[in-house]
Amino acid sequence: MPHLYLHVPFCVRRCSYCDFSIAVRKRIPAREYVEAVLEELEIVRAADPGAVPRGALKTLYLGGGTPSLLPPDAVSTLLTSLLDAFGATSSRDAVEVTAEANPEDVTTEIATVWRRAGVNRVSLGAQSFDDRVLTWMHRSHDAARIGAAVHALRGAGIDNISLDLIFALPAELQRDWERDLELALSLGPDHLSLYGLTVEERTPLARWISRGAVVPPADDRYADEYLLAHSRLAASGYRFYEVSNACRDERRSRHNSAYWSGRPYLGLGPAAHSYDGRARRWNVAAWPAYARAVAAGCSPVESREVLTPEQRELERVYLALRTDAGLPVTTLHRPPWPATARWLERGWAELRGERLVCTPQGWLRLDSLVRDLTDVGAVA
Ligand code: SF4
Repeated sequence: MPHLYLHVPFCVRRCSYCDFSIAVRKRIPAREYVEAVLEELEIVRAADPGAVPRGALKTLYLGGGTPSLLPPDAVSTLLTSLLDAFGATSSRDAVEVTAEANPEDVTTEIATVWRRAGVNRVSLGAQSFDDRVLTWMHRSHDAARIGAAVHALRGAGIDNISLDLIFALPAELQRDWERDLELALSLGPDHLSLYGLTVEERTPLARWISRGAVVPPADDRYADEYLLAHSRLAASGYRFYEVSNACRDERRSRHNSAYWSGRPYLGLGPAAHSYDGRARRWNVAAWPAYARAVAAGCSPVESREVLTPEQRELERVYLALRTDAGLPVTTLHRPPWPATARWLERGWAELRGERLVCTPQGWLRLDSLVRDLTDVGAVA
């Protein structure tokens, strides 16, 4: 498959809002992890050689967890082996190779090794430039580390940098969102991913809220900060090409864009998902169970689901409306009235040629817009 995702599950601790599938470890079992992933690749290839096509890899994404906790030589071995397996050894920058990193891990040494191993894009988990807020989030970095990491990456030749920021935090934190946006923009990243805080079950944040220690943020804070980000970023030449992602100079994430356009992808590592255009499958989430399965030569796939035509259609509509490509109205049985006439009147969407595209106000209501379209039976 042309898009490869690798899940690196290790973190040094759990952030207060995070419910991702992670393994908290003081010592990172890097060698075991690299061997396990390469073993899984062989298991996948033996079952379906077409899943590892030579010369066709377009994107490779190291996500987590915290990929930057892997020692640089482990990342180097992993990337070299994977790129070789896909026959992507020459002209490596033809493949977009992204690694997620926490700012405190990025040194000149890591950045240099990563660049040499093929990494040409880094997504930095900045989240905020306010040390108080970072402490509340249980992040391991302080604000100064973010700029230092950007500097180290650029010095090593990695200039395609994305910053993640979280907005809509509880009011009591008195987080200055505009200041955080300014500080992020002052670093000149090519890409920004902005996520509203959500309260997930079984997280420290959910426990704080259930015992009354934290008041969840009000909906209007989410809307105000989301719209502020749109206007501030647009003024600096950034364009939101997806509900949570903005870039300048067309430096979109090619990997994530593949997800949003419904392309097939292969996922390796614990909890990784794969999609072949028809069915989705996912690996066991726990690192020890994953490692045991592949060490025994068994597939670590926990389960799979074949999407029904209705599920695929719902997904197609939802993914299309998430992006600035929008939904082609020619794929609807009839013009999207009356459901979407209301959206157009209220400024939640606009027609660009033959495509229905959400505005920022519409993206705030994305779920109800998709429900509108799919409930009225207007979808082909
Ligand atoms: S570093 Fe990322 S994956 Fe790890 S706990 Fe924090 S938010 Fe979750």
